[in-house]
Amino acid sequence: MPTTVNAFGAHEARHPLAPVTIERRDVGPHDVRLDILYCGICHSDMNFVDGSFGPLPVSPLVPGHEIVGRVTETGSAVTRYQVGDLVGIGCMVNSCRTCDICRAGQEQYCLNGHTLVFASPDPAEPGAHTQGGYSEAIVAPEDFVVRVPETLDPAAAAPLLCAGITVYAPLKRFGAGPSTKVAVVGLGGLGHLGVKMAKAMGADVTVLSQSQRKRDAATQLGADHYAVTGDGTAFTELANTFDLILNTVSAPISLPDYLGLLRLHGTLVSVGVTTQPMPVDVMTLCQNGRSYVGSLFGGIAETQEMLDFAAEHQVTADIELIGAQDINTAYERINASDVRYRFVIDGSTFAGEPA
Ligand code: ZN
Ligand code: ZN
Repeated sequence: MPTTVNAFGAHEARHPLAPVTIERRDVGPHDVRLDILYCGICHSDMNFVDGSFGPLPVSPLVPGHEIVGRVTETGSAVTRYQVGDLVGIGCMVNSCRTCDICRAGQEQYCLNGHTLVFASPDPAEPGAHTQGGYSEAIVAPEDFVVRVPETLDPAAAAPLLCAGITVYAPLKRFGAGPSTKVAVVGLGGLGHLGVKMAKAMGADVTVLSQSQRKRDAATQLGADHYAVTGDGTAFTELANTFDLILNTVSAPISLPDYLGLLRLHGTLVSVGVTTQPMPVDVMTLCQNGRSYVGSLFGGIAETQEMLDFAAEHQVTADIELIGAQDINTAYERINASDVRYRFVIDGSTFAGEPA
C-alpha cells in the first residue's frame, strides 16, 4: 500500500514552499524505503521552484536531492541493504541501465536520460513524478542508493550527495593530487567542498575570489593560498600556474582570463551552471594545450567512492541545520549569499503542524 508522508513543497513556481502531503509507493522487490534524517538545500532546488527550469512538472513539487536517511524496509530482492543501514540518495534515482554510458558507471550522462530524484516522470509509477527529500520518507531502487559511513556526521554528510560528488568527480578525473596545483573559483556550497576535497587529495590549493572578503574563510577551510581577481593583477601574477581550475560560480566568468592561469595541459572545469554564454578565446586555449570542460555531478559507484573517501579523510560540509519551517527563509538567505556554506533540513521537522 502506498503511504502518505509529510513534506514541504511548492504548489506554484515563484511561490513560497508550504507543508504538503505526498504518496510514497509500496516497496517493490528491488526498492528500499528510508526515513529521511537530513536533506541539504542545493541551489538547483531553488531553480526548480523559482521557475528557472520552466513551469513545475507537478503540483505540489517537493524538492531535495541531498538525502541521508535510515533504511526502514527492504524489497524481497534487495541484497545490499538492511533495515537500520545509514544510506544516501543524491540527484538520480534511476537511469536506463543498459546504454554504454550507464554500463560505464556514468549514469548521470545516460543516453536515454536519467530519472532525477524529483521532478522527473517516474518509471516505477507510470503517470507519476518523482518527489524529493524535503519529506519524511522516500522509496528508491537499491541500485541508486549509496552507503553513508557511520563515522561521518550524517547532517554534514548530506551535502556530499550533490555538492560533494559534483566537485569530487572532476577533481579525480583531472588528476588532483600531490604535486598538482588546484585553484577553486567561488567559495559557496560547491567551492568550500572543492577546497576540502582537493586538500584531502593532497593538492596545493588556491582560492580565487573577487575581493579580500573571504580570505580568512579560505584559510579556515584549509586553502594554501588566496588570490584576489577583482583588480585583474592575479591574472598576470599567476599566469601559467595551475594544473586544474574548478569553477563553481553559477554566473559568467571571463574565460580567457582564467584559461591564461593554466600551465601546460591544464584544465578549467565548470561545475557551476549558467545559461548565459561565456566566449572562449581559442588562442589562449591553444597555448599550453589547455582544455575547457564541464562536469555534471557523478555516477553511483563514483558517489560511493566519494563517500568512502570523505570518511577516510573526514571531509563533510560546513552546515547550518534548520527546521522545515525555515526553508523559505533559507532560500532568501542563499539568494543573499548569507550562508556558510550549506543549509541542511532536519528531517524530523517535516512532521510538524502546518504553519
Ligand atoms: Zn544539487
Ligand atoms: Zn543509460
